[in-house]
Amino acid sequence: MAGKCREYIKDLSDYLDGDIDSGLCAEIESHIGECENCRIMIDSLKQTVILCREGKPEPLPEALEKRLKDKLKERWDKKFSK
Ligand SMILES: [Zn+2]
Repeated sequence: MAGKCREYIKDLSDYLDGDIDSGLCAEIESHIGECENCRIMIDSLKQTVILCREGKPEPLPEALEKRLKDKLKERWDKKFSK
């Protein structure tokens, strides 16, 4: 399961943007349905994205998006390195 989660991490921000193909989107959604870790991860990512975008409707700056992804990876690595 952990390996699968890692595969999805790189797609999560695209998923939140609705910027992925429908097959992958369905795959992620069904995975979220059975994986609490990813659900929590997506919820917190969503909140961060919403906060970042409030009063600022343009897309996330690339640097910020990269920081978010790095942070996510870091959390996952911590979680699954044990
Ligand atoms: Zn997962």
